[in-house]
Amino acid sequence: MGNPPNIIITGSARGIGAATAVEAGRAGYRVCVNYVNNRDAAESVVARIQSEGGEAIAVRADVSDPAQVKLLFEETTRNLGPVTHLVNNAGVPGRIGRVEELHEQTLRRTFEVNVFSAFLCAQEFVKRASTRHGASGGTIVNVSSMAARSGSPGELVHYAAAKAALEAFNYGFAAEVATEGIRVNAVSCGLIDTDIHAEAGDAERVRRYATRMPMQRAGRPEEVAQAIVWLLSDKASYVTGAVLPVAGGR
Ligand code: NAP
Repeated sequence: MGNPPNIIITGSARGIGAATAVEAGRAGYRVCVNYVNNRDAAESVVARIQSEGGEAIAVRADVSDPAQVKLLFEETTRNLGPVTHLVNNAGVPGRIGRVEELHEQTLRRTFEVNVFSAFLCAQEFVKRASTRHGASGGTIVNVSSMAARSGSPGELVHYAAAKAALEAFNYGFAAEVATEGIRVNAVSCGLIDTDIHAEAGDAERVRRYATRMPMQRAGRPEEVAQAIVWLLSDKASYVTGAVLPVAGGR
């Protein structure tokens, strides 16, 4: 790829996505900071990238909606150039609780944002990046969770199941496009200190669980970002279909 790479990072106004956007800007990517609600937070990520000499734009799109995903890719292409890299980071946890208490709408939304969005963004990405469509390839990283392996009983079984589906997508899709210049990998995050725990209904979750981790602390968004940017890069040129735990030994 001769031109600077162009990346869309879904849900990058806050948390792991925001840290990845900043790290990608430092690594020379032109960055599309996608958000759904928090425009000010997205704009401040853009400003931070620009203050470090990088190029970035903020684009609002609910990535669970096919029409908005299409517009996200079109606007990024118009402003930055062809999309060469994608991080499927946007995610919602739903509310903590037992399966029998789970509302159908929460179940649907959890799968829409954590799973459907990855399919929708991958579809738009492949049309633009695959050698099958005359482009020169690219890389995708999906952001998963160790919950896919633990199942998160009593708390977030719906979320764990969605992330397990995301990992099945990661394996299958990686193999499907492996000869088309596209690598597809995932990071499996452990306990990372972001807003997501408060959104799930337990703002104290990080504090309560941190010392139960083998490293006896939660991870920082920047520590996940480093792993994502490595998987995106040519340094990981023979890595595809992998799920890399970034979980402090959990
Ligand atoms: P976060 O701080 O709550 O940030 C979530 C981001 O996703 C926000 O920027 C939000 O946008 C965006 N978002 C939510 N729904 C969206 C939608 N429909 N369309 C576009 N963007 C949307 O969460 P985080 O902890 O950084 O989580 C990032 C990813 O890591 C998620 O996939 C999560 O499941 C995964 N993960 C996190 C942990 C952890 O312990 N933190 C562990 C395992 C996996 P707005 O700011 O505009 O609302």
